[in-house]
Amino acid sequence: MSQSPQPRAELFEGPEVRPLAMELDDLEVDVSRETILPRPSQSRLIVIANQKGGVGKTTTAVNIAAALGFGGLSVLLIDMDPQGNASTALGVDHRQGIRGTYEVLLDGDQIEWHAVKSQEAPGLWVLPATIDLAAAELELVSVAGRERRMVDAIKTLQESRQFDYIIFDCPPSLGLLTLNALVAAREILIPIQCEYYALEGVTQLLRTIDLVKRNLNDQLTLSTVMLTMFDGRTRLSTQVADEVRTHFPSETLKTVIPRSVRISEAPSYGQTVITYHRASAGGQAYMDAAAEIAARAR
Ligand code: ATP
Ligand code: MG
Repeated sequence: MSQSPQPRAELFEGPEVRPLAMELDDLEVDVSRETILPRPSQSRLIVIANQKGGVGKTTTAVNIAAALGFGGLSVLLIDMDPQGNASTALGVDHRQGIRGTYEVLLDGDQIEWHAVKSQEAPGLWVLPATIDLAAAELELVSVAGRERRMVDAIKTLQESRQFDYIIFDCPPSLGLLTLNALVAAREILIPIQCEYYALEGVTQLLRTIDLVKRNLNDQLTLSTVMLTMFDGRTRLSTQVADEVRTHFPSETLKTVIPRSVRISEAPSYGQTVITYHRASAGGQAYMDAAAEIAARAR
């Protein structure tokens, strides 16, 4: 059995000065007392959504979750995608028959019954998704309060357990699975790939967010836009980044996630880039992005 990982301040240190990480001289931080990253005053529930496929939703969800965990914060990642890619990347079993998000949504099971600890970072828990969840999209249609199943489960969870962060990884669609996450969350993080058609679909996503806000969850805000797979050698990447910053000047993170082989290799080892190759440009970028997100806590 490998030793459980501990929060690590030095992981957040790099060439730039990062005051949050530098403040603490004791690296052996007790998770329950002190943290390297600032602890939010209340749980932050963040849904990672973009109905465009392959833009880096899962990669962002797992690496931000792991980085926050290494920052000493408690994190629950809820895998809302039948592909179960987030469960894979966090080294969590999600073979058919494993109980997780499906049972929470369809059977009314409690999150606590099925959430498992990931060995990828301290304080990191995962509610796994299996391929069974693919059927949930249809099965939920006839269920009473079908878009409120997750928010009810979160309320029950929070009666006994407060995570600093709850992060939802969504499938590339705006169906009932994503809707359940949007109703349960407070914040949305949209990853945008620095490629052609980057903003394609974002208008539709914003319209959906607005509908959810007006009808189902008035607390929902688009808090964060993250540029992913940035390739500094191409003018296209720079153009897309500029365009996104023009549309979302305050929401877009300063940190940009570069296209990185290490990032794409990590899941095949059941790892995040934070544990696989944190010194790589990609690993460092996700650590920086997590620190930036944590610093924005209200
Ligand atoms: P889906 O819509 O299918 O759920 P997604 O939006 O979750 O996809 P990811 O699975 O995170 O996207 O990423 C898509 C592919 O791109 C994956 O193979 C992933 O490893 C790779 N990838 C993501 N981010 C990077 C990056 N910064 N550099 C290189 N490859 C990346
Ligand atoms: Mg995904």
